[in-house]
Amino acid sequence: MNTQALIFDVDGTLAETEEAHRQAFNQTFAEFGLGWVWDQNLYGKLLKVSGGKERIKAYVLDQHPEMLVPGLDLRIATLHQRKTALYTAAVATGDVPLRPGIARLVAEARAAGLRLAIATTTTRANVLALMQGTGLSPEWFETMACSDDAPIKKPDPQAYLLVLERLKLPPEACLAIEDSANGIRAARAAGLDVVMIPSAYTAGDKADGARSVWADLAPVSLTHLLG
Ligand SMILES: [Mg+2]
Repeated sequence: MNTQALIFDVDGTLAETEEAHRQAFNQTFAEFGLGWVWDQNLYGKLLKVSGGKERIKAYVLDQHPEMLVPGLDLRIATLHQRKTALYTAAVATGDVPLRPGIARLVAEARAAGLRLAIATTTTRANVLALMQGTGLSPEWFETMACSDDAPIKKPDPQAYLLVLERLKLPPEACLAIEDSANGIRAARAAGLDVVMIPSAYTAGDKADGARSVWADLAPVSLTHLLG
């Protein structure tokens, strides 16, 4: 079946956003006087947990079990809200560029009449801020399944299944673009073919299940991508 739609992951795929996320987490922890610092090594490990709130909780369970008290989830939600505000402010002003080839591929896909969508475990606010800062128009993407409406995080396929439902397309008519093993698993579980472009933090991820793997999309034409 011909490919009719491209479905993009956001973090690590559209842009190398994880350093901006990490810095926003650390700034939040400092503002709340927690004394936590996530260095790149630790953050690389924490990225195995999808979702910001889930990531904070995994860190607390592992490093600060004394904080496992009633109300922890609410505390984490407050931290995450502040982290999101800091992150969106940073990326909306263009702190994080698109990865090589993304802007050109999106333009080629639009010119070819392909439908575009987003399937991500990040919040819609984060996605819109990144688009604002990088010149991608939200209107180019027919639907966006974000953590707000698809709360079960990758590798669960919920975000992809929601996109397919909204596009009214079978998985065989779509191609997913992902940077991580969790993302590949989510897309494959929804029945999709996946192209992987590993990011800085997912360079060591297994590409099992991916149809092809590229360092980035700079040398990949739309025809090449779909072929
Ligand atoms: Mg990703």
